[in-house]
Amino acid sequence: MDLKLYSNSTYNYNSKSQQARVLTEAWVGKNMFCPRCGNITLEHFKNNSPVADFFCPCCNNQYELKSKTGKLGVKITDGAYSSMIERINSNENPDLFLMSYSAKELSVLDFWIVPKYFFVPDIIEKRNPLSSTAKRSGWVGCNILIGKIPEQGRIRIINNGQVESIKNITFKMQLANKLKTDNVAQRGWLLDILNCVNSIEPHEFELGDVYRFENRLAEKHPDNNNIRPKIRQQLQILRDKGVIEFIGNGKYKKIPQNNE
Ligand SMILES: [Zn+2]
Repeated sequence: MDLKLYSNSTYNYNSKSQQARVLTEAWVGKNMFCPRCGNITLEHFKNNSPVADFFCPCCNNQYELKSKTGKLGVKITDGAYSSMIERINSNENPDLFLMSYSAKELSVLDFWIVPKYFFVPDIIEKRNPLSSTAKRSGWVGCNILIGKIPEQGRIRIINNGQVESIKNITFKMQLANKLKTDNVAQRGWLLDILNCVNSIEPHEFELGDVYRFENRLAEKHPDNNNIRPKIRQQLQILRDKGVIEFIGNGKYKKIPQNNE
């Protein structure tokens, strides 16, 4: 995989953001394989499809590309807030490619895939409406809060300029696939409890360690008066999906999430 960004058509564009789009899309078209089926190339949608940028000619999976210079950080700017929420609620969101690159070296630093079923309204931040003097006055955009996506849903293909092994990427994709939940409300609960479990330091923990998040979860889900049973239910689902193991006496163990 060549990490250098190159395009011979950037001179057609004056704006920096359009040049960046041409460069990053050219890189994906030339270097990226389909992380879902392993097909060696992806096709670019012609004429700016409103939802996705690339598709796999083999498994038809769709991908949206978001890129920025420097580090990926905790959030990345995306399009209109309302259409993003609508896409998530109707399960029409594509997988997301996140790319960061060095504008000075013109080379890729990070390239991640976030599978579509890690998207919940909770990770979409509403931005302030554009000011009255703006061309699209009143338009409301959004940010994707990358930092709120559980670790299992941020799969590194390139990490700090290093390409991960195909074996590792496939392993992590398979783990992520096990967490697939079609119902968006159920998905929200599962990802909330997964984030709680991820933030507990030791590999072995007790039910009480997860109950410590009870108040925070109650604030987030004001309509639910049975937070503790909900926690136990979601831990069972995480066990069934192979993320944790029950080791008896209200104790749990995290199953290692890497293949090294
Ligand atoms: Zn594919």
